[in-house]
Amino acid sequence: MSTIFVLFDFFYLLDLYILRTFSYFVKRLDFLQFIRYKYLMFKSEESKKIYQAIRFCGSLTKRETAKRCGFSLTKTTLLIEEMLENGSLTSFSGKSNGGRIPQLFKIKSGSSYSVGIDIGTKFRRAIIVDSNDKIASAKEWDSNFKKPDTLTPDNLVKRIREMVKHIGIEESKIKAYGISITGIVEEKEGICYSLRNVPNWKMLPIRDKIMELTNIPYISVIDSSRAMAISEQRYGGMRDIKDFILLNIGFGLGLGIIINGKLISCERGTTGEIGHMHLRPSTELCVCGNVGCLEATASGWATLKKCQEGIKSGVETIINSQNSPEELTLTDIISAANQGDRFVCRILDKMAKDIAIALGSVINLFNPEKVILSGGLTRALGNLITNTIVREVKSAVIPWIQKSINIETSKLDKWDAALGAATIALDRAIEEL
Ligand SMILES: [Zn+2]
Repeated sequence: MSTIFVLFDFFYLLDLYILRTFSYFVKRLDFLQFIRYKYLMFKSEESKKIYQAIRFCGSLTKRETAKRCGFSLTKTTLLIEEMLENGSLTSFSGKSNGGRIPQLFKIKSGSSYSVGIDIGTKFRRAIIVDSNDKIASAKEWDSNFKKPDTLTPDNLVKRIREMVKHIGIEESKIKAYGISITGIVEEKEGICYSLRNVPNWKMLPIRDKIMELTNIPYISVIDSSRAMAISEQRYGGMRDIKDFILLNIGFGLGLGIIINGKLISCERGTTGEIGHMHLRPSTELCVCGNVGCLEATASGWATLKKCQEGIKSGVETIINSQNSPEELTLTDIISAANQGDRFVCRILDKMAKDIAIALGSVINLFNPEKVILSGGLTRALGNLITNTIVREVKSAVIPWIQKSINIETSKLDKWDAALGAATIALDRAIEEL
């Protein structure tokens, strides 16, 4: 049996040498860029696996790469040498722990870029990320609820082209677009089913629209909570955690579920819509068209609505004197909560308790190693809501897993969804190359 493996390895290495010679001529002929990508950057699934392992970890030694990919050190060395030669990897000296200085490998910067666009409720954000996952440019603008028609695929691409021009890179270096949407999204076909306050995004085939405008074939559309989960896994504290759940608490609610290191995606496109769970009978209308969804009673939107109703009915609150109910913003409410306003704190406490019950059901379903609380409202309110969620979730979790519940608050910043979208778009582009 071992002879078979030795022969297999021999022919595999021979094959690599032949491909390497072929690559040399292709490179010299300066063939079509696509061919260069396919045969020089990833001429085998093995080289793609090495590229992705190094990209995932930021940097690795040859030995670490071999272990992570399950290849022999000889094969890994040969493949890494090829990628150094074709310019997709670069090497540098690491820090010594007393012995030899380790040689590390990382993805070479500047060869290709990915765009991440985060269509949030209050803000829209766009970033350009280089192949080394470093942000080269970032822009944020207000959603302007009064002018929803300005959010069009043409305007988004126009903004990206301005950013590309500003940082002085060739547009041909943009290889993928990732679009994260805080709405209901069908990811497989890249359709936005609904985006609150933006009627022209209802059933919008955003992936095809951006593809038409850019001629880039690798466009990924993803729900923002799922994009945030990817960011936590790649750039946050979840790199070594196999099973975790991210709960996004903002204007709406959403989940990103990572099981066995992979983002859970359903064939039918939408996944993790915790905001549309029904906890108890309610007549509140949800953005999805149903009545009684969690998001309609316990979310940023629901809090805003409850505060407006409270002010109209004359409750005592410090936000009373600042704004008329119609002009009230979530920022005003967050400010009042942070000043200890009792009316606002009561609403937020109820919201946190309801979210905890829903989260408890999710923990019962998946029993994850960790739960990450994230999103704009979590970042703005911190302990004001997270303490309640952590305390109350236990009552909704089956007793024998209560002790092992591990809930943390995200340490990533507001760019997490855009970064996750850009990352997953490049991942999928690499997969298809
Ligand atoms: Zn709903």
